[in-house]
This record gives sequence, C-alpha cells and structure tokens, in this order.
Amino acid sequence: MISVQKNGAVKDGFLDSIGNTPLIRLPWASEQAGCTILGKAEFLNPGGSVKDRAALALIMDARERGVLPPGGTIVEGTAGNTGIGLALVGNALGYKTIIVMPETQSQEKKDMLRLCGADLRLVPAVPYKDPMNYARYSGRLAEELGAFWANQFDNTANRMGHYRTTGPEIWDQSAGTVTGFTCAVGTGGTLWGTAAALKERNPNIVCALADPHGSALYDWVKNGELKAEGSSITEGIGQGRVTANLEDLPVDDAFRIADDEALNVLFNMVIRDGLVLGGSSGVNVAAAIRLGRQLGPDAVVATILCDGGARYQSKLYNPAFLAEKGLPCPPWMASA
Ligand code: PMP
Repeated sequence: MISVQKNGAVKDGFLDSIGNTPLIRLPWASEQAGCTILGKAEFLNPGGSVKDRAALALIMDARERGVLPPGGTIVEGTAGNTGIGLALVGNALGYKTIIVMPETQSQEKKDMLRLCGADLRLVPAVPYKDPMNYARYSGRLAEELGAFWANQFDNTANRMGHYRTTGPEIWDQSAGTVTGFTCAVGTGGTLWGTAAALKERNPNIVCALADPHGSALYDWVKNGELKAEGSSITEGIGQGRVTANLEDLPVDDAFRIADDEALNVLFNMVIRDGLVLGGSSGVNVAAAIRLGRQLGPDAVVATILCDGGARYQSKLYNPAFLAEKGLPCPPWMASA
C-alpha cells in the first residue's frame, strides 16, 4: 500500500485529527465587547468536543504508565463528551469503554455514546457526596472489574493535555496578541491547562473563570469559599469541589453567567454569525464579552467553543424545553 505524504495535509486516522482546531474571530461577540473576541473551535474535533483532547491525553498517559493493557477496558464517569471522546479514541486503539453518566444529560449524547459502541450505564444525578454520584460510581466499577479508571476530574494528565496543545495553539494562532482568556470548568482541565500555557508565554494575559449558577467556583476564585446557589441548564460545566485539575489554578478573575445571558449569546451567534454551539460555549463567550469590555478596545480575548448545538437540540434549542424552564425563546426559533 502506498503511504500518504506526511506533510500535515492528510491526518492519520482519528487520533491525528484531534486538536489544531481553527481559532475564529467572533463578529457578533466582538461588536458587543468593542474589542476582538476569538473562539477556539473545539466543536470541530473529530468526536465533536473539547473533550477529545482530554480523552487522548488520559489514554496516552495510561499507556505510558502501563496501566492500560492492549485490548483493556476503560471506565469513566462523564456528562457525556469525555465518554464520547474515550469511546472513539478507544475504538481507534482497540479498547472497550464503559461509560457512567447522570440520567439528566441530553438524549443526543446518550444516543451518540451507544452509537460509539460504549457500554452506557445511567445513574441518578446526585451530588459528589452521594456514593451513587456518577464519578464515584465509575471509580468503584473500575475497581470491581479491574479495569482502567480514566478519572478525568483528579487525573492531571487531563490538564497537561491542554497545557501541551490548546494553550500553545491559541498563542501561536493569535501570533501572541491574545490579552485575555475565559473558560468554564467541569473538571478544570481546559481552564488550567490553557491558562497555564498562556501565562507562561505572557504573564500579563488576564485569565478568568466563567461559571454558571449552581457551581461553587465563582465564590472560590473571588473569596476562597466554595459556595453554590441556584442552577443552570448548561451541561458539562459547574463544579462543587477543588478537583486535582483545579489545584493552583492560574486565574485572575471570575464571571458568573446566568442561563438567559448565555442563551442570548448562543441565539445571536446562530442567527448573526452562523455558529450553532452548546450551552457551555454560550457561558464562555458571555464571559469573554464581559472581560473584553473591562480590558478595553485593544483587547484580544480568546475563549473555548466546547461543542456544537446539535448535541442539545432537544433542550436549549427546543422551544418547549425553554418554555418549561421559563427561559426566553427567539421568535425565529419558536416558528421553526
Ligand atoms: N463544556 C462541555 C460541553 C463539556 O462537556 C465539558 C466537560 N465536561 C466542559 C465544557 C468543561 O471542560 P473541562 O472538563 O476541561 O473543565
């Protein structure tokens, strides 16, 4: 067989297609902020989300440490995207995956996980202190089966994946012009890894947490106290504890973003810019707009477009769901 030229133009399968996503100037958000807002298009990863990077980093680290034998089984608790990434990286490398997910997550992510061949186990959506919590349950299951537990929350191979790739890519793609960065947290891997890499290149880059209601991290960054209030329809973000991936978090500020603010951003990006994104992207861009306004007209604020909107069509892009939650629905969507 003739091998393809190794010039970067042809990617070698799924693994080689992860990362090196475009950095996109966001016209509507830039107009709102009065400065330049850039979005890292992580929804263009081959598994559809930023979590492909974490999945690849966790599996490669496990292989290097010799804790994932050939043909072995990977167990993980996830809001869905990490599970999809692990299942697909697993398929490409010959591993089985067992994915534990809270039953409240979107039907689209559950369907996708089954399609990827993952063994999907749904558990009640309960807090971390409850032993039935999806992350804790997955740890016990891995131990019982003698399988590899990816443990994305407390395995720092996750944040190191972003430190090696996401952060340097944003720096290089913006030709070192970036002055601000905002990002929400599930495990903390994306925020920690990207912020650490950016600050290493320029310590003056202002890095800020974007936090939804129901998460305890806004108060933690602002005054050192973990305190959660309210709730959010966003999936995959919000955290009630300091995971290992959040230790020594290099951030300067935090923004609390309500669902209606995030949704307004998302709907405008669909209709004004042609970008259909998931809920956490709305939180990230909303925070980037707020940081950009603070930093002034010369600011260049980067953020993460974590996944695409198709994963949430039954929820945040569904007029009936929005009405049930008392959230606004734009006229073009109501009549669609
Ligand atoms: N957005 C989405 C849609 C996610 O699935 C996740 C991961 N759960 C995040 C953001 C947060 O990323 P991280 O785990 O790196 O903090």
